[in-house]
Amino acid sequence: MAKIGINLSTGSLQKQEMIVGIDLGTTNSLIAIIHPESKKPVVLKEHDGTALVPSVIHFADSDGVIVGDKAKDFLVSDPSQTIFSAKRLMGKSYNDLYNHAKLFTYKIIDDGTESLVKVQVGERFYSPIELSSFILRELKSRAEHILKTPVNKAVITVPAYFNDSQRQATRDAGKLAGLDVLRIVNEPTAASLAYGLGMNREETKMVAVYDLGGGTFDISLLRISGGIFEVLSTNGDTYLGGDDFDRVIVDHWLALLGITSTKLNTSELQSFRLMAETAKKQLSTTDEFTGEIGIQRITLRREDLDKLLQPLVEKTIASCANAMLDAGLEVGEIDEVIMVGGSTRVPVVMEAVAKFFNRPVNDNLNPDEVVALGAAIQADILAGNNKDFLLLDITPLSLGIETMGGLMDVLVPRNSKIPSSASRQYTTQKDGQGSMRISVFQGERDLVKDNRRLAEFNLTGIPGMLAGFPKVEISFLINADGILVVKARELRSGVEQSVEVKPQYGLSDKDVEGMLTDSFSHAKQDMQVRALVEAQTEAKILLDTTENFLAKNKKLLTELEFSETDSAMTNLENLLQKGGKDEIQTAIEKLNDISRPYAERLMDQAIGAAMKGKNIGAKNQ
Ligand code: AMP
Repeated sequence: MAKIGINLSTGSLQKQEMIVGIDLGTTNSLIAIIHPESKKPVVLKEHDGTALVPSVIHFADSDGVIVGDKAKDFLVSDPSQTIFSAKRLMGKSYNDLYNHAKLFTYKIIDDGTESLVKVQVGERFYSPIELSSFILRELKSRAEHILKTPVNKAVITVPAYFNDSQRQATRDAGKLAGLDVLRIVNEPTAASLAYGLGMNREETKMVAVYDLGGGTFDISLLRISGGIFEVLSTNGDTYLGGDDFDRVIVDHWLALLGITSTKLNTSELQSFRLMAETAKKQLSTTDEFTGEIGIQRITLRREDLDKLLQPLVEKTIASCANAMLDAGLEVGEIDEVIMVGGSTRVPVVMEAVAKFFNRPVNDNLNPDEVVALGAAIQADILAGNNKDFLLLDITPLSLGIETMGGLMDVLVPRNSKIPSSASRQYTTQKDGQGSMRISVFQGERDLVKDNRRLAEFNLTGIPGMLAGFPKVEISFLINADGILVVKARELRSGVEQSVEVKPQYGLSDKDVEGMLTDSFSHAKQDMQVRALVEAQTEAKILLDTTENFLAKNKKLLTELEFSETDSAMTNLENLLQKGGKDEIQTAIEKLNDISRPYAERLMDQAIGAAMKGKNIGAKNQ
């Protein structure tokens, strides 16, 4: 029975299934939904108006776990039990992080290996997946609290450069937090969606997404065409962001004051850092900042800040140039530039980006929210609420069924747009065959044994008919959620069976990639195997029909005809086991050549017998 929830804050009825969009960020995370009434994407806010949840986890001694703003307070007072930037650890080994190990104030286990990293807190060990799941669990419960309805399904965003294991780790973190992760979406794709790009299917647009957050910088170049988002190139610096801006401001002040940072204790240094961040933010809208630390009066002017930040901004622009080079694009080909991340509010950043791309940037939306908003739009599309815009996804691998000889017969080729449907007719191979086994496979190889078996079922109750008579229609339907329904129906009798599968279930992007690479590297060999299997199948069918024919008509054949047929059949049977495609084909032709004359003769006799004494009524005879 479907359950209906009531939103206590708006009094409106809500459907039970709410799919949220989650921006799981390095520094901050947030959730957005499509507002049930306005149908516009909105971020979820607490009563006090906060939407950003700092991606910080504090493990209290009492076994308790605190996430968000409250956990952030422990960054200074209890650094070894307080985890930040867990996203940087996703899918990484200690060796990957070695160069940056100093940045983490908590303990990362140094096992000197390539195996996935773990974090030690007191006596306990946590994987980055578990750490991220704490953040996601907090986001889920916040959303449930605000929406007053269970939240079990989500779309989560990741950087475009995330590899398969990092994407899988994010998916697993969602699962651990009790979320069914319907889709992992690239952050630049989500940002583009939030700006309405890709909504017009007729249009092809080249988009640059410049994302400068607190600790990371990414530039992604996308081609959006026919509702499909293709990442052409990515570049950036995973250790460059607003925190570095704050650091250069602090260094500037300390130099002016003649203080060396080593002389300051952690809390003094922290005060300078916080003051620097305040100054930076204020100077995004004013020309001058004045503050006090203790008895020290501190100032900073916009033009000084611009000069201080120049080298860092130039670094990001160099990344943009590299990304353009990798994508083989000229600046003139970029249609839109989208700004993401809190640090893009800094005027000198915005100016430099606009100058490099030689066009005004898109900055109407809150740069902290834009990714979450886009994730909500994607969630809405997956929920099937946005019928105009269902072309977003494509099947990564072909879907088909097993036919004779273990061959893969593709019904939905890879890269088909979802939702999608296809059907094809098949028939039985044996007289009186009452059932048919339908095996559904996914993959690019010609033989099903090299592909992935998704499901198998029997279509039973086919009424007894001669081989080749039943018409079994197999149809594949992939709905917007990526669920595949396979139906088999014998058209003459109406018997029907169906099965539902999730083609993507348990299949990582890496698996998909592996399957594709395999299909490329085996393409030639696969083609040869397919040709051989097809010849073998043809031979088996011919042997079967000839045998049936002989059983019924042996008496009507001459001795020579029979012995020639018999030896041609034995020859073909032997070749079936060990012959090549051409040998089998030649043997098939030989058997056909022997049987054709007597088959025709017997056919003529049969027709003659049927005609005897009958007036066929031709007028001119
Ligand atoms: P994000 O990781 O996208 O949440 O970005 C956070 C970064 O944006 C931090 O370094 C903030 O200091 C910075 N930021 C937020 N608001 C502003 C602003 N008004 N001006 C400059 N930087 C800002």
